[in-house]
Amino acid sequence: MGWANQIGHAEFPQDELNKILVDKEGKVPSNNALNNHVRKAKGWGFIETESNRRCLILPVSHFQKGIGDATCDEHGIRKAKRFRP
Ligand SMILES: [Zn+2]
Repeated sequence: MGWANQIGHAEFPQDELNKILVDKEGKVPSNNALNNHVRKAKGWGFIETESNRRCLILPVSHFQKGIGDATCDEHGIRKAKRFRP
C-alpha cells in the first residue's frame, strides 16, 4: 500500500478510488458498490473503521511510516504547529 502517509491515511480525490477499483470489463463501480467494498475491508481488518471511500486508514501495524505528511483533510487531522510562528 504505497498511498498511505505517515499516519496511515490514504486520501483519494473525488471518484478516484472508483477508478482504481474498476472491474475486468472496465466498469467503474458506483459509490454504493464502493461503500460495500470499504465495509468488507473493515470487516476483514484491512482498514480502520473510520475509513471511507475518500480516505482509507491503514492499521498502524500494516504500513511503514515515513512517507508523505501526517495530515488528513478528510478526517480533519493537521499539524497545528506548522501554521504558527
Ligand atoms: Zn483520513
